[in-house]
Amino acid sequence: MESGRIAPPRYCYQPWSNLFVRPYGKVQPCCQNTTELGNLHRQALEEIWNAPPLQNIRALIAAGRYDEAGCQTSCPLRLAVDQCPELISPDWLQRQGEGSDGEKARRNWEGFLDGWRRGAAVIESRPLCVDIQPSLLCNQHCFMCRQNHGDPAVLPVSLIRGMLPFLDHAPTLRLQGGEVFFLEGFAALALEIKAGLAPFQHLAIVTNGSLLTPELADGLIHGPGEVRFIVSMDGVTEATFRKVRRSGHFQRVMAVLRHLAAAQRRMNRPELVQWNYVLMRSTLGELEAAVTLAGELGVLFNLIFLQGDFPEEDLLNPAGRLSWEEAAMIRRVIDGAAGRSGFSTLPLEILLRQAGEVRYGHSN
Ligand code: SF4
Repeated sequence: MESGRIAPPRYCYQPWSNLFVRPYGKVQPCCQNTTELGNLHRQALEEIWNAPPLQNIRALIAAGRYDEAGCQTSCPLRLAVDQCPELISPDWLQRQGEGSDGEKARRNWEGFLDGWRRGAAVIESRPLCVDIQPSLLCNQHCFMCRQNHGDPAVLPVSLIRGMLPFLDHAPTLRLQGGEVFFLEGFAALALEIKAGLAPFQHLAIVTNGSLLTPELADGLIHGPGEVRFIVSMDGVTEATFRKVRRSGHFQRVMAVLRHLAAAQRRMNRPELVQWNYVLMRSTLGELEAAVTLAGELGVLFNLIFLQGDFPEEDLLNPAGRLSWEEAAMIRRVIDGAAGRSGFSTLPLEILLRQAGEVRYGHSN
């Protein structure tokens, strides 16, 4: 595939590939850049996709002007582009491109590559990945979460349905909250969206796992359309889980993660489940055990940096400086993951780079 041979441009790709839709209908470029591109209550998604606000962001990002574009300084992609451009592999491109079966999807994929490489403000391709956040309601209270879980806003199902025809080229549609399964009628909505997908598309559901019973998961896995689950779980012990999530659902989440991993193996669906793990001071000590467990379960493992102003927890903050032992552990995890699929060590490389790994005796 062509995408495997190109060197990616040294700026973020998301304004050419992604959109993020909030409960009030606000559309923004990604989860980390909250610039309002338009609102589904006033405009159709296809009007927003090439309208002046997103044109402006594409131009700014192609010029490396991330602050003016509204990008957060802690955005992992921005950090990667700024600090470790040589470490950005074409993995993402290859994974997205792999879904581009069929003439329509293939042409859309190539249109994305062309628009991104040129830094074009107006593009002919359509989104490759769209996040839809139907509501902010949640049954957990993670100490680092900045969402207002008391906000009752719900994105009308009619607006979600209205977007879908424009998204028929996108390999990935992603639903996230809040906690999506806390929203009444969510499973039916997910089943409806999933049933309308083309063979090259999948529906990803981001969940904290506490309300996702094995029966509910099985009901979503089977039937027409492909679903994937992204389960958020920080830590591998009840104590850490309780500290971070401020809830007592650790056993339930672990059970559903194991259930999904078993289904993944049984059905030979290697991307059925991904485990998201927030990297911060409270979870760093269990990182090695989490990576080992993810390997035993055979699930994808995805590291996310902590967002927000938590200097004691933020490992990228000078106050969160790594000890020698922690740096050595991180290096061990990276080395141990060499050749392992489904686990990008890029956030760990960024962390070591930020901490100045040379202080810890590594020069390469
Ligand atoms: S650099 Fe980060 S915040 Fe900016 S558009 Fe890319 S993903 Fe979004």
